[in-house]
Amino acid sequence: MYNLTDIGTIKDILGRHGFHFSKALGQNFIVNPSVCPRMAEESGIDENCGVIEIGAGIGVLTAELAKRAKKVVVIEIDTKLLPILDETLRDFDNIEIINQDVLKTDLAALIREKFDGMPVYVCANLPYYITSPVIMALLESRLPIEAVTVMVQKEAAQRICAPVGSRLSGAVTVAVDYYAHAQKLFDVSAGSFMPAPKVDSCVIRMDIRKTPEIGITDESLFFRMVHAAFGQRRKTAANSISAGSGIPKDIVIKAIEECGFEPSVRAEGLTMKELAMLSEKISMLMK
Ligand code: SAM
Repeated sequence: MYNLTDIGTIKDILGRHGFHFSKALGQNFIVNPSVCPRMAEESGIDENCGVIEIGAGIGVLTAELAKRAKKVVVIEIDTKLLPILDETLRDFDNIEIINQDVLKTDLAALIREKFDGMPVYVCANLPYYITSPVIMALLESRLPIEAVTVMVQKEAAQRICAPVGSRLSGAVTVAVDYYAHAQKLFDVSAGSFMPAPKVDSCVIRMDIRKTPEIGITDESLFFRMVHAAFGQRRKTAANSISAGSGIPKDIVIKAIEECGFEPSVRAEGLTMKELAMLSEKISMLMK
């Protein structure tokens, strides 16, 4: 079995295959030996589970997942990595590689076809250029998955895991909190990657809620309101919601008043329950 965090081994494999890192594809591979075992360990998987990984690189995380899970399906866009993965993962018989763009992959169909009723987890060192779309696609499509454990940039982790209603919270905080319970697992320094990125990273875990913690009758209005509310953070919630959502300003002001909030309240000062209350009020007033 290859030591996929040994720099000499990595250089040898990449050199023999004539592989060059693509910045555009977010190719920063993990070379710190403690990161992938810890990620796999803390992701919640066991020998009865199926795992979806996004972006295999040379298979360093894939191998750790395959040691612990029943089956791993990894979606990798870069065709040039396929012969490398054939070599580095040849000792495993529970890994399937799909050469595809994850954003164009029908994940619901993939889960149905590949995992045969197993509990399914997602675990990945995400290419940073698609962090948000991937996380939102995983959550919004209500896939039958238990938890999503991903490495993201430290700043993104802080925003995603901030409590709703705190200074760091944003539209993504609210969206993630609606579908999942998010927590930070551990920090990963830039030097843990090859090539080293400019920023540090953090591994986070999102445990999918079976039912949302808050009741919302009109989800589409709720998210329209939330995106507008956090779109112009320095404005009051009344101004940003009316400017960015198309909801008439008089309705927003009346809803804020009827909820009992200060007229000058900002989006980041509202908790999840308060945001839900506000969208319910707006929905009623718009009827
Ligand atoms: N898992 C490996 C590791 O931890 O060392 C590689 C992680 S690297 C940050 C991201 C990987 O995602 C690369 O292998 C890259 O080719 C792949 N990738 C980039 N965009 C992708 C996409 N749209 N769909 C699937 N894979 C993608």
